[in-house]
Amino acid sequence: MDLGLKNKVALVAAGSRGLGRAVAEELAAEGASLVLCARDAHTLDQTAASIATNSNVQVLAVPADVTVTDDIKRVVETGIERFGRIDILVTNAGGPPAGRFEQLTHEQWEEAIRLTLFSAIELTRLVLPGMKERRWGRILNITSIAVKQPVDNLLLSNSLRAGLTGFARTLANEVAADGITVNNILPGYTRTERLDDLARMMSEKQGISADEFRGKWEKEIPMGRLGEPREFAALATFLVSERASYITGTSIQVDGGWIKSLL
Ligand code: NAD
Repeated sequence: MDLGLKNKVALVAAGSRGLGRAVAEELAAEGASLVLCARDAHTLDQTAASIATNSNVQVLAVPADVTVTDDIKRVVETGIERFGRIDILVTNAGGPPAGRFEQLTHEQWEEAIRLTLFSAIELTRLVLPGMKERRWGRILNITSIAVKQPVDNLLLSNSLRAGLTGFARTLANEVAADGITVNNILPGYTRTERLDDLARMMSEKQGISADEFRGKWEKEIPMGRLGEPREFAALATFLVSERASYITGTSIQVDGGWIKSLL
């Protein structure tokens, strides 16, 4: 299947590692030019160089913190200066901290709102006018399985990703007639640096090994294993492709069967 991604320009936020990087790699393999951002310039440059070499596409790396509005502006402006347009936006950021209601402060809520909700809204605000003008665009938000089945102890993630889903579902209707789709992709437990860190941290608390702790997650997953970033990136790439032209307003999980609801 030709996904029609050759010569498209994709902005992947928080794309230096993990799920964002996997999506960027897959888009590059399909011939898309990339604008990548993340906070750590060194890791970002390494990722950009590796993708450019492996896929022979142009990759622009712009160090930025997606919680800072001026940084987001700089990413979009630099991308448009270099490539003339942004056709595809993949929103992403690190996850907000874990915690129960009485452990989380007002400041942590504000920071999480900027990270998880506002970063996606502001990126969308900046790329949407060009997409409308060209009557083609793809917006894909990386959210979480927590949207369909809240995860214990992840109050910030459960709350704010639900908010982002409401935003995306409403925007999908507002821009559908302009040839722009807006969808969300929901990672389940996927083997990234973040999940490895989390397994190490939690296992230390419980006095067990990280492998044993990973085993606990795996028991909850019908497939009996964690997902691989490439498995996640395959759906992301399809959803932002030409071929997904009639799919909008959806939230689709890539979770090995973890979500137990019918829809
Ligand atoms: P990761 O920690 O491996 O990668 C996160 C990326 O975000 C890195 O490139 C980092 O540099 C970047 N980043 C973090 N904060 C940023 C900021 N303020 N500004 C710019 N860049 C920033 O994480 P991941 O596993 O790839 O997860 C990506 C998203 O998916 C997170 O929001 C996470 O909570 C969510 N998620 C992941 C899983 C999983 O199992 N991996 C499951 C559900 C949800």
